[in-house]
Amino acid sequence: MLTKNMHMKPNVTYSFVIPFMNEEAVLPLLMARLIPLIDQLDGLSEVVFVDDGSHDQGAAIIAEYCMSDPRVKLVRLSRNFGHQIAVTAGLDMVVGQAVIIMDADLQDPPEFVLELIEKWREGYEIVHAQRGVRRGETWFKKLSANLFYRTLSRLSSVEIPRNVGDFRLVDARVVQAIKSMPEQDRFLRGMFAWVGFRQTLVQYERLERGAGETKYPLKKMMRLAMDGVIGFSDAPLRLALWLGALVSLGALCYGVYIFTLAVFTDQLIEGWASTIVVLSLLSGMNLMISGVIGLYVGRIHAESKQRPLYFISQSIGLLGEVEARRR
Ligand code: UDP
Ligand code: MG
Repeated sequence: MLTKNMHMKPNVTYSFVIPFMNEEAVLPLLMARLIPLIDQLDGLSEVVFVDDGSHDQGAAIIAEYCMSDPRVKLVRLSRNFGHQIAVTAGLDMVVGQAVIIMDADLQDPPEFVLELIEKWREGYEIVHAQRGVRRGETWFKKLSANLFYRTLSRLSSVEIPRNVGDFRLVDARVVQAIKSMPEQDRFLRGMFAWVGFRQTLVQYERLERGAGETKYPLKKMMRLAMDGVIGFSDAPLRLALWLGALVSLGALCYGVYIFTLAVFTDQLIEGWASTIVVLSLLSGMNLMISGVIGLYVGRIHAESKQRPLYFISQSIGLLGEVEARRR
């Protein structure tokens, strides 16, 4: 594979995967910092931009850079597939020995990549950039992120490092591993933790966006959080089991009590109120538990359709096979 690549294309050391959606305001700022960075790296770089269904001029801006600099490449997805799929598409295209995934909005400082590379040179195959201080984010985002990472690391069966987003460097071997995981609901930070290899963390200061607004509204954040919990934990299902057991035990005790009353006293069992309360409690719980099971069944449904993860409408500068991946 590697030798074949060497005949076909220049030997790329560093590949950058940068997904973007409606980021026209920030892209020129990003390029102004990224190009000097890759110029100073100790190997050839490629920068693969993935346009995740933007409605602005972002792709045109990148296309222009592609014309003047062959290291810059562009893949356009046929619609907005979401950040995680956009990163996946980028990973499918890259050919470098080390692959750096970063956001387009300059919240992940490009210069920090030098530190990630240093760790990779030391022999780590996955270098996660961990958010220390977060600037320019609302207290709600910080609080919800904190709570989410805590809950997830408790529930999940693999150790998912806290406060680590998608900014990381991974070795080509890890990219191969991730490519072999065809799941539809992609919670990449969990998947990177799951594959193993030698992993390490480096702390960085998460800055404010260079320009523009967040593309992760609450709904998308919740969806991502759900993918994380459901994809990496069966705790909600186990919770349903324990809850069911607890309620059954309660019902059993109550039954014994009623039975005793009926046999040893002549107190009539009054009040349908208690019956209604118990009944509605139980049916509510039933619904909730079916809902939890439904979430997992929904995932199975999505997987069973075996659809490709994305489609590409246009690509510039990429040599490899640029069609939707199929299984
Ligand atoms: N993004 C994307 N597709 C989406 C949403 C976001 O490609 O559907 C990109 C976005 O352009 C940015 C990165 O993913 O480069 C992270 O998104 P954002 O900065 O909006 O998230 P936040 O940092 O606010 O969590
Ligand atoms: Mg951001």
